[in-house]
Amino acid sequence: MSKCAIKRIDVFKADLRYKGGVYRLSGGREYSVLDATIVRVTTQDGIEGWGESTPWGSNYVASHALGVRSGIAEMAPHLIGLDPRRVDRTYDAMDAALLGHEHAKTAIDVACWDIFGKSVGLPVCELLGGRTNVKMPVISSIHLDEPENMRRSVAEYRAMGYLGHSVKVGGEPAEDAARIEAALADQKPREFFIVDANGGLTVETALRMLRLLPQGLDFVLEAPCATWRECVSLRRRTDIPIFFDELATSDASIVQLIADDAADGIGLKISKNGGLTKGRRHRDICIAAGYTMSVQETAGSDIAFAAIVHMGQTVPERYLRCVLESRAVMSGKTADGRYDVVNGRIVAPDLPGLGITPRLDFLGDPVAHYS
Ligand SMILES: [Mg+2]
Repeated sequence: MSKCAIKRIDVFKADLRYKGGVYRLSGGREYSVLDATIVRVTTQDGIEGWGESTPWGSNYVASHALGVRSGIAEMAPHLIGLDPRRVDRTYDAMDAALLGHEHAKTAIDVACWDIFGKSVGLPVCELLGGRTNVKMPVISSIHLDEPENMRRSVAEYRAMGYLGHSVKVGGEPAEDAARIEAALADQKPREFFIVDANGGLTVETALRMLRLLPQGLDFVLEAPCATWRECVSLRRRTDIPIFFDELATSDASIVQLIADDAADGIGLKISKNGGLTKGRRHRDICIAAGYTMSVQETAGSDIAFAAIVHMGQTVPERYLRCVLESRAVMSGKTADGRYDVVNGRIVAPDLPGLGITPRLDFLGDPVAHYS
């Protein structure tokens, strides 16, 4: 057995609280606390790798926190003894033990990349293909609210230097049009907006919303409808740029997206798409198609954010729309590291692995361990 073989997997649980009280999405969905799962993978030679998977509740995509921990319980016994630096082979073992449930695989996969980096003394972004010299713009996340409140939220993030804003809409055409107009009212040069419906519109309400808007507003519409057919139908009847998010989760769906010419980019979320190993492939498929990427997490604290930043750091500038500052939304500090956002931009730290130091006092005792 290689000395760099998985010896032990510890699972931690943490509650992340929304900083603004209650976060509202389309369809009446509300969130105040998210249940985060943090994983520590330890090798025979004592290297520790860390990963996180924090679903956005249980009704955003087909993932939930209890499922993350159950999935890890299914897979963990099959991973002991494997070399975690063989990330694709480790992923094969996870796929062989558990079909689907990518969100459960994410935390382990990210921990394997962290170990890989530490074992060779390189940052994860270098192993994912090598860092660009891009200072990546971060994007805010503005929940569904009254138009003037959303305008004020955008202004607050703008004052912190943010160049990008993800603005949520919800389903009633006139109200949504008012939200978009208010959020974009003070748009500055080079600032960009993603209007995200999280699948909450029908084709009818989406078309009505778009018709109510004044000409020339500059934004991308993300995840307008819940189903593939509706999104493609809308795509055929509007010239608005469209991103897929909740429906772009796998190799197959992203290849189909391109074949259908159904979008202009995707929200590439590490945990939704199965970690850095799968995300790396989705990045490359998107680059081949000329798609723009918004590199994100569904949610996450410092450890999940570190994974986003390393992935984003490998996307050429013309294809990188932004990275999501997931930490700006939820409270709960799970790790320290050089991840400061300066003037709305961030660069991956030049330290081995993810370059983070977990806060064991915050994480507490493991809720499960496998060895
Ligand atoms: Mg989205």
